[in-house]
Amino acid sequence: SKENGKNMYTFYARDMNDHLSETMLLEIELRKALERNEFYLLYQPQIDISTGRVVGVEALLRWNHGKKGLIPPSDFIPLAEETGVIVQIGEWVLRTACLQGKRWREEGLPPLRIAVNLSGRQFLSRDFVSSIQRTLSETGMNPEQLELEITESMTLDVNRSISTLRQLKNIGVTISIDDFGTGYSSLSYLKNFPVDCLKIDQSFVRAMLTDANDRSIVSTIIALAHNLNLRVVAEGVETEEQQAWLASCGCDELQGYFISKPIPDTELHRFYRQCS
Ligand code: C2E
Ligand code: CA
Ligand code: CA
Ligand code: CA
Repeated sequence: SKENGKNMYTFYARDMNDHLSETMLLEIELRKALERNEFYLLYQPQIDISTGRVVGVEALLRWNHGKKGLIPPSDFIPLAEETGVIVQIGEWVLRTACLQGKRWREEGLPPLRIAVNLSGRQFLSRDFVSSIQRTLSETGMNPEQLELEITESMTLDVNRSISTLRQLKNIGVTISIDDFGTGYSSLSYLKNFPVDCLKIDQSFVRAMLTDANDRSIVSTIIALAHNLNLRVVAEGVETEEQQAWLASCGCDELQGYFISKPIPDTELHRFYRQCS
């Protein structure tokens, strides 16, 4: 019952090792959040730098906690990952984003790409590829519109990752490497990985105009991506100067507060009209 639940909370909070009790509390709350529909997605537009038009969005998870209000993903995703709840949350995110993609099409928007963040646990789970396939067919989402964002740290098991990525590619979804430049990628790694897009980490974009090293990193990633026939997206673009410099380097797409903050699904129509 609810009362017992409350007593358990106080019991654990008082008597157990701090981190462990916090983790257990959060795990219970995250499971409840799924049942109570406390999660929702915001969508951050990505524009084509040469046309200025929106070509895609990144789905970003939000948790509106019944009592504590809005909790940012950085405060619960690491623990959700640790406890494994992230797998169910990730399935919810994927399903919701796919349903939204379908709905936007029905509402008359063009086939925009929808990027969804994966967690390591999700990517490495046994039935990951079939769960993607199931979600696509159950929601009627066009696979070509779905992009999955992975990070370099998820792909330490190189052979397994390559096999998973190949299967995803066969389904028709695209893959991007998020936070690119902050992980362990080497050139040979990139050559062998069937990915479609690199997302330049926002730390480089932020420092780019004041730090010559960051500037070189950014222009090198762009050149590298193009030499490998990959699309390249800069994230965390906050100023016109950053946009101009990225354009001069030939970056393909931009994402960041200068373009738009993450917005609710209903606002995408207005944003789309505004930039086309
Ligand atoms: P990320 O995937 O690197 O997402 C980009 C983050 O940068 C988002 O933070 C976004 O709101 C923020 N951002 C966008 N433009 C700007 C900008 O111009 N300036 C600055 N300073 N920040 C900007 P958010 O939404 O708080 O998400 C944080 C992280 O949480 C994400 O980083 C991602 O790693 C994770 N995350 C979010 N949604 C999901 C999800 O559905 N599943 C999983 N596994 N992780 C998620
Ligand atoms: Ca991302
Ligand atoms: Ca990122
Ligand atoms: Ca990140």
